[in-house]
Amino acid sequence: MEIRVDPNAGFCWGVVRAIDFAENELKKAPKVYSLGDIIHNSAEVNRLNGLGLETISVNDFPKLEKGSKVLIRAHGEPPSTYREADKYGLEIIDATCPVVTKVQERIKKFFDNGYQVVIFGKKDHPEVIGLRGVTGDKAIVIQSVEEALEKVDFQKPTVLFSQTTMDRETFGKITAALKEKVKDLQIGSIEDEANKFLAKNTICGQVSGRDKKLREFAKANDIIIFAAGKKSSNGKVLFNIVKEENPQSFFVEDENEIQFEWLKNSDSVGITGATSTPQWLMEKMRDYILQNYKIARLQD
Ligand code: SF4
Repeated sequence: MEIRVDPNAGFCWGVVRAIDFAENELKKAPKVYSLGDIIHNSAEVNRLNGLGLETISVNDFPKLEKGSKVLIRAHGEPPSTYREADKYGLEIIDATCPVVTKVQERIKKFFDNGYQVVIFGKKDHPEVIGLRGVTGDKAIVIQSVEEALEKVDFQKPTVLFSQTTMDRETFGKITAALKEKVKDLQIGSIEDEANKFLAKNTICGQVSGRDKKLREFAKANDIIIFAAGKKSSNGKVLFNIVKEENPQSFFVEDENEIQFEWLKNSDSVGITGATSTPQWLMEKMRDYILQNYKIARLQD
């Protein structure tokens, strides 16, 4: 049986950058605080915890010593977090992914110009909390066509954005449905300039660009072990893509969740993961299977 680790899997550059920030700061100070887990992957979080990175929330700010270093992860934060850190004299290490910063800036610009901002995303996802934050929490967050049609006020000039890790197909469907609705309203409308609608596809290329290679990898192997944190939204999107191509795909968080039964009768096993899955974790899974699978079969 051949076991391959997907050479195109692993951290996106925004996450690599945030981890570099954390590791560099930890060389200078024994303790750095991360606002929320730096990444949706407990194995990597544990590794960094061992180096001195401690996960906290904004509610912990009053307990921190003045001058403590607080790292903002790749997802970004709302403006209120920066104000709170300032209030308690904390030093911000801003590792917000530049792609996310750009989306925040664009949303703010449209909002300040009077647009109704609609975000295709998950309301409580940390990135979306940051995006909502730049609109003073006025943005409408939706996840489906139905929700969009129900919540959007078509009498207002509207702009649609996306959380960076959502799927392109649904974004396209929502855009088409909203455009259609606006067109319907414009027919016979006197004040048609109010029905202005713009769609800005802000899905990150690091996520959407992976689709093609991932599909090929999923098809090229008998079974797929997909490694990602259960909280990773990018992990869910990519796993669905894998599953579409290869129904024999299994989602695991670490090597202990691998069931050797899955591997029976397969000649090739592919190990891949989300943009938040470290390469070392996938290699560890490969080594785990190599070391234990034969022993398990012999005991069958
Ligand atoms: S997926 Fe894209 S936007 Fe998100 S952290 Fe990675 S590079 Fe940045």
